[in-house]
Amino acid sequence: MSQLVKINEDRLWSRLYQVGAIGADPRGGVSRFAWEPAYRDAVKLLINWIEKEGIEWRIDSVGNVFARIEGDGKKEPVVLSGSHFDTVPQGGFFDGLAGVMGALEALVAIKESGIPHKRPIEMVAFINEEASQFLGGTFGSKAMCGMLPSDYAYQNRHRQTGQLLCDAMREYGMGVDPDNIEKSKINAKEYYAFIEMHIEQGRYLLDKDIPLSVVEAVAGIKQFYITIKGEAAHAGGMAMKDRHDAMAAAASIATEVERLAYTISPEARGTVGYIESYPGEHNIIAEKCIMPVDFREADYEKWKEMYDQLMNYTEQECKKRGLMWSVNYTCNLEPAPCNKEVQILMDSIAKELKISHNKMISFPAHDAMNMSRIMPMGMIFIRSSNGGVSHCPEEFTTKEDLVRGTSLLANTLLRMASEDILL
Ligand SMILES: [Zn+2]
Repeated sequence: MSQLVKINEDRLWSRLYQVGAIGADPRGGVSRFAWEPAYRDAVKLLINWIEKEGIEWRIDSVGNVFARIEGDGKKEPVVLSGSHFDTVPQGGFFDGLAGVMGALEALVAIKESGIPHKRPIEMVAFINEEASQFLGGTFGSKAMCGMLPSDYAYQNRHRQTGQLLCDAMREYGMGVDPDNIEKSKINAKEYYAFIEMHIEQGRYLLDKDIPLSVVEAVAGIKQFYITIKGEAAHAGGMAMKDRHDAMAAAASIATEVERLAYTISPEARGTVGYIESYPGEHNIIAEKCIMPVDFREADYEKWKEMYDQLMNYTEQECKKRGLMWSVNYTCNLEPAPCNKEVQILMDSIAKELKISHNKMISFPAHDAMNMSRIMPMGMIFIRSSNGGVSHCPEEFTTKEDLVRGTSLLANTLLRMASEDILL
């Protein structure tokens, strides 16, 4: 049996709390936004620890931070692990940060253990995943995967101040370069796999009384607006058969979204957050309705079918009422399956460590989704305590669960850096 590495529980917990407090919001919680002064302070503290441990670090052209321990082999591909370092407005200490501090602790513990491994191991702290101020989520991993246009920093503005991203990046310093964001693109051939540990952000594990999960896939997400156009008319004067009622169609379509999610698979999710109606009067038949639809499903075929069926239904509902309709996409992310061999490895290591665990699908999007497009990907979910809440100051994961997840992470990284587990 291979050797197991032991992590330092107190070091992990105390470092997470020190860096997690940076960006404390006077209204409560933590608001640590990419390229802002608090973010820079947090990065400096992170680098300070990395240096203290005698580990090499670098920052890429957009602000992703890397730490790296070498392997014994020559020109071996890197095993990469990490998560995001920014928060939502008034967020908590664990979303993203658990995966960054877990990866750093894994590197330090593996280095201290002296256990030989042939492949290098890297930690990454992705920047602007939440994209709280400069919109467009999972920015740092998109940049690493070459998914951003080179003039991106000149197109994107701060959602409140209107400042251009390129100016914010220049003010931030730390070696970032808005004129060369494509330089942060990595060469996938130089990487073996990517592993992300993240809090669950729901109450599935909590209700099942299981501390962690080996994630099977990140569900695909489709977000789009349906616009329906009819004819405004008097709510009393116009007979039912003579109407072109946009709201009647919109309401029917919203109900169909729910029905489709219930029937297409046991786990699919379908949401209509609101229906905007014009002119929006009590006694006027709606002339126009706009509704956002959010569809999530892990199986590619079902994910597509859910959308196709809704389009057919929309066509039918609009046709019978004499309405026009159109669709405008805002997000279309294919499902990202986790690598099978990585799942098998994590499963067996969790058993060796005697950590009870199960399998689950991630319905929130993560940086791991982008990484899976260019290299084998795996994810560990750790239990969210406190009712499973996240993206709020009350977000919490116990020290015991963070330690369990980090032990599994560290040993997975070590095993992947030593053995040829991928087919
Ligand atoms: Zn997150």
